[in-house]
Amino acid sequence: MDLKNLKILIVGVGGLGCPASLALAEAGVGTLGLMDPDHVELSNLHRQILYSEENVGQLKVEAAQKYLQRLFPQTKTNLIPEAFGAVNAEKVLQSYDLVVDGLDRLEKKFVLNDWCVKLNKPFVHAGVVKFEGQVLPVIPGKTACLRCLIPKIPPPFALPTCREAGVLGSFSQAIGFLQAYETLRLVSHPENLFLWKWNIQKRTARSIRPVRNLDCQACSGKVFEETIGEMTCKV
Ligand SMILES: [Zn+2]
Repeated sequence: MDLKNLKILIVGVGGLGCPASLALAEAGVGTLGLMDPDHVELSNLHRQILYSEENVGQLKVEAAQKYLQRLFPQTKTNLIPEAFGAVNAEKVLQSYDLVVDGLDRLEKKFVLNDWCVKLNKPFVHAGVVKFEGQVLPVIPGKTACLRCLIPKIPPPFALPTCREAGVLGSFSQAIGFLQAYETLRLVSHPENLFLWKWNIQKRTARSIRPVRNLDCQACSGKVFEETIGEMTCKV
């Protein structure tokens, strides 16, 4: 596919979404949807590379748009200053070819996973906390999704975000750039996708072919039918 015709939604323009959107605009992607309800804070600046002190207090999506348009005017940006959730998932996802998961809370990542699988939208999950980061490209119905690998969703707020546990800005950016690379690879080589796991403290990087779980609640659609699914999908 010609990258100029590609529409990619970035859900969360923070430590992952900033480097991912920068790399995708640089690669020549035609349209980026930027979705984030938050404003730029001083504490964001060490890892969220699209923002500077002059942006503090502005909507992240507006500050990100300014930065990207200055460098890559050929990339169109759509702004969605809303939190992602079950109430708006279908509406926002349907306009895009691919989705980049830049969310910070794990329970929200499951909501995005479940809706992308339900709507058959290829997406690239990524997560980073302290010294560990991972990236998982997913083609619904063909490759393993996040819930195939982690069947039981942790309870809300059980795991810390990178804001709470801390993360090196450079490591968060490295994972975000890897996520952008895997997004482009998902377009060019969809038959050959891997789960990446990096540990910067142990200095290890592993790529694993993820195995689909035949009992996966998202891939089978059951997550939207059963009571527990109702709860998790409506975070
Ligand atoms: Zn699955």
